[in-house]
Amino acid sequence: MKRSFGSIKWKLVLVYAVLVVCVIFISGIYIIGNIQRNLYQSRYQELKYTAGRISDTLELAYTSSEQDLAEVFADVVTSLLTEGGNEEGLLMYLLDPSGELLYSRSGEIQPADLASRTVLGAVAGAESTELYVHQITEDGTERTVGDYAVPVKRGDSIWYILLLRQSVSDIEETMQNNTVIIVMASLLAIAVSALLAYFLAAGIARPIERLTHRTQEMATGNLEIADEEFSSSGSSDEIQELESNFNHMAQELNRILSEISSEKNKLETIFHHMADGLVVYDVDGYVVQCNPAALELMGKGVETERFGEAFPNEHFATLLYSPEGTIAERMLELDDHYVRAEFAAYGNEDGASEGLIVVLQDVTEQRRAEQMQREFVANVSHELRTPITTVKSYVETILDGNVREEEMLVAFLNVINKESDRMTSLIGELLELSRIDNRQVQLRMEEVDLTDLLTDCVRRYRILAQKKEQTMEMLPAGPSLLVECDRSRIEQVLRNILMNAVNYSPEGAHITAWSSLDAERQEGILHIKDTGMGIPYKEQKRIFERFYRIDKARSRSSGGTGLGLAIAKEMMEMHHGRIELDSIPGKGSTFHLIFPLSIREEIDEEEENESMDSDLDS
Ligand code: ADP
Repeated sequence: MKRSFGSIKWKLVLVYAVLVVCVIFISGIYIIGNIQRNLYQSRYQELKYTAGRISDTLELAYTSSEQDLAEVFADVVTSLLTEGGNEEGLLMYLLDPSGELLYSRSGEIQPADLASRTVLGAVAGAESTELYVHQITEDGTERTVGDYAVPVKRGDSIWYILLLRQSVSDIEETMQNNTVIIVMASLLAIAVSALLAYFLAAGIARPIERLTHRTQEMATGNLEIADEEFSSSGSSDEIQELESNFNHMAQELNRILSEISSEKNKLETIFHHMADGLVVYDVDGYVVQCNPAALELMGKGVETERFGEAFPNEHFATLLYSPEGTIAERMLELDDHYVRAEFAAYGNEDGASEGLIVVLQDVTEQRRAEQMQREFVANVSHELRTPITTVKSYVETILDGNVREEEMLVAFLNVINKESDRMTSLIGELLELSRIDNRQVQLRMEEVDLTDLLTDCVRRYRILAQKKEQTMEMLPAGPSLLVECDRSRIEQVLRNILMNAVNYSPEGAHITAWSSLDAERQEGILHIKDTGMGIPYKEQKRIFERFYRIDKARSRSSGGTGLGLAIAKEMMEMHHGRIELDSIPGKGSTFHLIFPLSIREEIDEEEENESMDSDLDS
């Protein structure tokens, strides 16, 4: 209630009370004035009537001019009073035509009274038209009296003047009583009307106070409306309607604001979690917003740098004022990755530019894949062209008839045959890779003892090693490694690794194979070790890439295609296993084929998931 007396309620009460006071005051003065005038008027009429009676009686009594007018007057007055006239407190004076006192029935009269405007008017021949009320001092006390004077004529001239005076204290008393009554009534009326005004103003001010309270709440951000605020008013005047409209407006505002805030939250979540980087610049090139992806792509500095520092090769003004809807695209090469940047200006409703949005996309992987694809196509073309060129030149030589000796011809045909075999195996391996890529390889799972399988393969390819004066042996006492796998595919992998060990090891080298069990990780491992040339450290990861070969000529001369280890890696991954390499350049290499012992379960699980996915898709 800190500003209660300045509030609209108290202002209304004040205005209402002042109005009532004014009305009562004015009407009180009017009523009192009117009553007083009427009382004086009736007193005037009484005096006039008495004067008429006196003058009429005097006329009759004064029969001879020898009579003393003053004496006759005294008799007349006395007789009239004894007749029981009602002239109590009435003073009567007889004046001559010049206004001099001839006779006074009630003692002295002040000289000033004989010069009053009533007497002077009568001397001039005019009767009083109203009561002349004035103060006199009698025996030291003041009292108010009313005078009436009339000139009585005989012929054209004034015979005598009659001055009547009567006290008006009774009228004054009546007036005082009336005034007290009116003041009391006024006070009562003011109190009642102030009370009424208070309730009326309170009725008007209450909803306004509620509205004020609501606006204050809204200013602090609280837009919630309690149910009772809606049902607070039973009446339906304009202010209540305003209040209810206001509440509806606040509720609507609340709804719109919460919608905007949820949209904003959604956008912020997208902004923070989107994979693409986003940097927003203002019209002066300062960062307004920047998401985590942009920081990762461009470095932390981008947040504080101006546009020109972050993108030194771009012209800010040109991008900012480019026509609406224009998106400029650039490829940025940043340290070890490629980023595609799109620049688009954003503006306000009038179309004026307000800043620049930069969308950043990491395309390093895409670039690498494109590069690999290009290299792959170049490799395939190259690998096919070499044997075809050889075959073609040998065939042309034969067709030219230059090869006459049979021995030579057989040698030529052997070369053609070998090259054709190489092409066939190359195409076969390419088809195999393509099937793997397209997930068209069907594994024929069976229970296989990996130790037995490795022993078999070593026995089979030992002859090839022996041809190069190498030894190839299987270490005994390997554990039995029973796993579910596709025997022919694993055989293919083992063949490739054993053949590589033979091919890339010099004469007299030792190739050793063994199996082991990692009980802790539940893995069965096949190891193939050679004492060959080894693989340079920086190339050890790359030998599993397609067509990657350390010594192309050597690989080719041994019938290699550069795809064997790539296929082996894919095959191991299809069996949920992996292939690892330890190699010391110049000393030899050891390949480890690692199989999880629960392959079957993992593959079953995978197949189940795939069939569920395809069911869902269909
Ligand atoms: P290739 O058909 O050429 O043998 P691979 O994919 O089987 O293709 O092998 C890729 C390359 O890895 C080979 O060209 C060779 O340079 C190297 N390499 C593979 N095995 C060995 C090994 N045991 N010792 C040395 N180098 C090897």
